[in-house]
Amino acid sequence: MRMPLIAGNWKMNGTLALIERFGQAFAETGLAPSVEVALMPPAPYLAAAQDALGATPVMLGAQTLNPEPSGAHTGEVSGAMLAEFGVRYVLVGHSERRSLYHEDDVAVLARVRAAHGAGLTPVLCLGETLAERESGHSEAVVLSQLEAVFDSLDYDARGCVVIAYEPVWAIGTGRTATPAQAQAMHAAIRTRLGDYDVDLAARLRLLYGGSMKADNAAELLAQPDIDGGLVGGASLKVDDFLAICQSA
Ligand code: PGA
Repeated sequence: MRMPLIAGNWKMNGTLALIERFGQAFAETGLAPSVEVALMPPAPYLAAAQDALGATPVMLGAQTLNPEPSGAHTGEVSGAMLAEFGVRYVLVGHSERRSLYHEDDVAVLARVRAAHGAGLTPVLCLGETLAERESGHSEAVVLSQLEAVFDSLDYDARGCVVIAYEPVWAIGTGRTATPAQAQAMHAAIRTRLGDYDVDLAARLRLLYGGSMKADNAAELLAQPDIDGGLVGGASLKVDDFLAICQSA
């Protein structure tokens, strides 16, 4: 009942030429109707991506948004601006935003609310560091990041979130969580969601992210509580990304 979602997070990578290549490849290859795919290029490429992907089922996503609707925030982009370019999904709380740009739980909640205000679906990223995992705190860290947002949302808002579990030690390192490690955390997240609402827990999509590649995606995606992937490095290679989308 949960439609898998594969989202490609380009981070601060890519070119206009790469956008064009993705547009052509997805137009030629097509996608099974049983999977949703979103591409999240850097904001300046959104207009080009909207054109290049317009004839494909690939949806557009963005990597961040400012919580304010407009104003004196040099360099920032609002949710309404993203929506004007056809953006459907926006990452919130990615570990690089949390660590490099000091976005704490309060900042993450504000961005989830801003995404909802602009009609976007936030992809709320959660994940523990290596030190947190090694000290046995992974689950407590991840669930507290979840609660910092979900405790403050009402029923409807909770239902309009995609969650991405991304262990920080697996991001960009080539060291993927094992399917069993990923499944265990996804199950813990879903169980916690069930405390809010059983129906919500059954309905919300939980993506795995962290060195997902063409050769490990199928095994991860086969886990019962993994409903898709948030793909960084491998989303920059059209053949790899297509292969991951096809394994979902
Ligand atoms: P990665 O990045 O696939 O390169 O590990 C994932 C992410 O940061 O979303």
